[in-house]
Amino acid sequence: MTAVLKVENLAKHFGGIKAVNGVSFEVAPGELKALIGPNGAGKSTCFNMLMGQLKPTSGRVLFDGRDITGRPPREIWRLGVGRTFQITGTYQSMTVAENVQMALISHHRRLFAMLPRAHRLYREEAMALLETVGMADQADRACAILAYGDLKRLELAIALAHGPRLLLMDEPTAGMAPRERIRLMQLTADIVRERGVSVLFTEHDMDVVFAHSHHIMVLNRGELIAEGSAAEVRANARVQEVYLGGGTLFATEGADA
Ligand code: ADP
Ligand code: MG
Repeated sequence: MTAVLKVENLAKHFGGIKAVNGVSFEVAPGELKALIGPNGAGKSTCFNMLMGQLKPTSGRVLFDGRDITGRPPREIWRLGVGRTFQITGTYQSMTVAENVQMALISHHRRLFAMLPRAHRLYREEAMALLETVGMADQADRACAILAYGDLKRLELAIALAHGPRLLLMDEPTAGMAPRERIRLMQLTADIVRERGVSVLFTEHDMDVVFAHSHHIMVLNRGELIAEGSAAEVRANARVQEVYLGGGTLFATEGADA
């Protein structure tokens, strides 16, 4: 099967700092893949290059076989690469449903929809997306009063409104309570399965990573040092070496949720 995302020898150097240094990997259609690694490993730098926020020093990024290296974020987004959890993506003064409707309006390029009728446009589609993320019962609440975890689920619905083929999630559960984290990733896993969307995500919580990823890649000092299933990555000697210092890889196992 053709990869949705293909990364070839990607590198980003900031002066002498090799933040990302020769990273290659693929994401298959319908795959939920985790990129993990200690702080400063280069995960966010990698994501920013995939989304067009940063231009790579060298290497290539292919989406659906098309070279998108160094293209502007908006163009990459239009091609079908979504990014979740930009807080700025939600308008505090609008309701939950209106935010998703705005995303649908923008996706369909209905620029003249900012009419009094706008509140009815794409209402059904918006409700269906809110149903998907478990937010339908909060559709008519103002965003300003949402709990943090609910806001995160709304942002997922907004990202889905653009019908992405690939979703990039850089620490989507940061700031969430353990139970909420598990719930959000469970939801993401369901969406991957039901919609065939591919997801690449980074995450600190190893319980979440091991429970939900199909495949895990480990980045350290800008280089991939291991990849495989949860069991393979856990058993990997280099991974243990990198993580044992911080103690984060195994310490929380079974402790949350
Ligand atoms: P992670 O997301 O895995 O924690 P980052 O990608 O944020 O890691 O950072 C990787 C390395 O690149 C770190 O050493 C960081 O200090 C450095 N870095 C990131 N962005 C910049 C920048 N704009 N200028 C200089 N150094 C940077
Ligand atoms: Mg980061």
